Amino acid sequence: MRLLTMKIGTYELHAIETGRFALDGGAMFGVVPRTLWEKSNPPDEKNRIAMAARALLLVGENRRILIDVGNGSKYDEKFTSIYKFDTSRFSLIPSLMRLNLSPDDITDVILTHLHFDHAGGSTYRVNRELRLTFPKARYYVQREHWLAANSPTERDRASFFPDDFVPLQRHGVLQLTDGEQEILPGISVRVLNGHTTALQCPVISDGTTTLFYCADLVPTASHVAVPWIMAYDLRPLVTLGEKRRILNQAVDEQWVLFFEHDPEIEAARLNRGNKGFVLDAHVKVG
Ligand SMILES: [Zn+2]
Repeated sequence: MRLLTMKIGTYELHAIETGRFALDGGAMFGVVPRTLWEKSNPPDEKNRIAMAARALLLVGENRRILIDVGNGSKYDEKFTSIYKFDTSRFSLIPSLMRLNLSPDDITDVILTHLHFDHAGGSTYRVNRELRLTFPKARYYVQREHWLAANSPTERDRASFFPDDFVPLQRHGVLQLTDGEQEILPGISVRVLNGHTTALQCPVISDGTTTLFYCADLVPTASHVAVPWIMAYDLRPLVTLGEKRRILNQAVDEQWVLFFEHDPEIEAARLNRGNKGFVLDAHVKVG
């Protein structure tokens, strides 16, 4: 299986597949008609497209850092069938174990935001008790996002499950971050407000090589087309401006873009084509 592995500065980076799921294709592509997106992202009989939940592990600086943790396992049968959760091929802990790491080895978890498909793996349930998946880690969340997630609107509350994140505060492992800053050595974040309030996207750079963890700014490779914006986004026109700005910088500085949700393409560099951004060199899931 070919999974992204690369070095940036003192860090070794590994793509971590946490499992697969599916979301409504219409919601994933907003105003883009199905006749256009169904070619690149074929829907199933319920109009759902295949989604990865791909975390990134960084090893270095005496730390083992995870960026996002996937859906987790706290779902009943109904929810599992709605979202087609599937850990038969990939899941979080076995993916770490393949790299000889156990949950206790993880020192830091940067959560881009608290939607369940990014933060669900932070906790798990034993009988009725919620436990931390990575009990020795600190968890980094933007303060403004934390506040928004704890009092969501009627439009986005279906994406937030308090069981994924309230225990972080209760166990004293939550580290709230304020704005764009270097969170850990060599890892800074961009803070974006189109998808949700204060989405933090990590940028890992050693001055020569830069990787941008797109999270839900560009969830799949298909979303490099600037107007292909999810209907889930709270502020789509803000997303539009953020995408244009960041993808232009990504081309100019030859960043590697890491796609959390693309079922086939883990990471890619971009170029400008006749009709907008196009993928250049990319890494596919084997
Ligand atoms: Zn999201």
